[in-house]
Amino acid sequence: MKKNSFLSAKVMLVAALLSLNTVIYAQKSIDPPAISEKILSGILEKNRAYYTQGKVADYIPELGKMDAKAIAFSLVDKNGKVFNTGDVHKKFTMQSISKIIALMLAVNERGEADVFDKIGYFGSDKPFNHFSNLETTGKPLNPMMNAGAILTTSLIAGDGEKPFLKILDMVRYITKNKTIDYNKSVYESEKSTGNRNRGMFYLMKNNGLISGNEDQLDNYFKQCSIELTAEDLAKIGYFFANQCVRFDGDATHKNKEIAKLIESQMLTAGMYEFSGEYSRNVGLPSKSGVGGGITVSVPGKMGIGVFSPALDQHGNSLAGYHMILDLVKQYDLSVF
Ligand code: GLN
Repeated sequence: MKKNSFLSAKVMLVAALLSLNTVIYAQKSIDPPAISEKILSGILEKNRAYYTQGKVADYIPELGKMDAKAIAFSLVDKNGKVFNTGDVHKKFTMQSISKIIALMLAVNERGEADVFDKIGYFGSDKPFNHFSNLETTGKPLNPMMNAGAILTTSLIAGDGEKPFLKILDMVRYITKNKTIDYNKSVYESEKSTGNRNRGMFYLMKNNGLISGNEDQLDNYFKQCSIELTAEDLAKIGYFFANQCVRFDGDATHKNKEIAKLIESQMLTAGMYEFSGEYSRNVGLPSKSGVGGGITVSVPGKMGIGVFSPALDQHGNSLAGYHMILDLVKQYDLSVF
């Protein structure tokens, strides 16, 4: 009897200690350590090896030359403070991430109703370069897949390369980085091999959605070839997370509605056909590009930029995705 009550006291003590531990642990997970470069580099190192499981885009030789081992992780916090780790100076082409800038400009100029009269708000279970329903309803599914993005860029006013220059200027403004330019040889390769995109362009021209000449398609190839760093991507993420206010507080382009529209498109289709699963796991508006970058907006808070050129089967950076996932879990950043 005595032995039994001693045992049950012991069990109770262990249970009490365990629940105390749970309380401490819970407090820890509510209040994780302040974000620092050390935290980011810990996450980077944990995920560095993912590049071995992915594949660098090689649809043009220029991209195939990318160093598969390069990796960078950047963050701009609520106050505009920048954190960088990894190959912070490494430049890569923004590719499809340029689609959110083009969408912003087209909607700024023509209004959302006019732009979305020609493009849907749909997600997709098809890859980014799929013709989707161009041959049925005639309209691209969304502005994040190639067809919709080619159309979006054609809707920005101006002859020749003027629309592209507006996109480049906006990227330079958002990142406060005037040195950003496009990579001419990537552009030349995109142009000479981009017959699938050319096919979409002419189909949309046939459908009466595009009225200009091939200069408009060139502008799309040029915007895909804009080179930047993970830090620049984090600043783009910050911009859309904070109602189009720049990381240094400049509010020249402040526009809550545009930011909400862009973020909703990023969430719906920014990671292509992986967007639904990504929303479940990460839960943040994000846009990827086949250059290996991903820009992420944490609404009302921060921007995240990652880079690692080895891609998964959907065309999203594999190590980049896992770095984002770890940060989001550690800091409970999902909007859901
Ligand atoms: N330049 C690429 C293309 O047009 C961009 C696609 C992407 O980044 N997913 O196919």
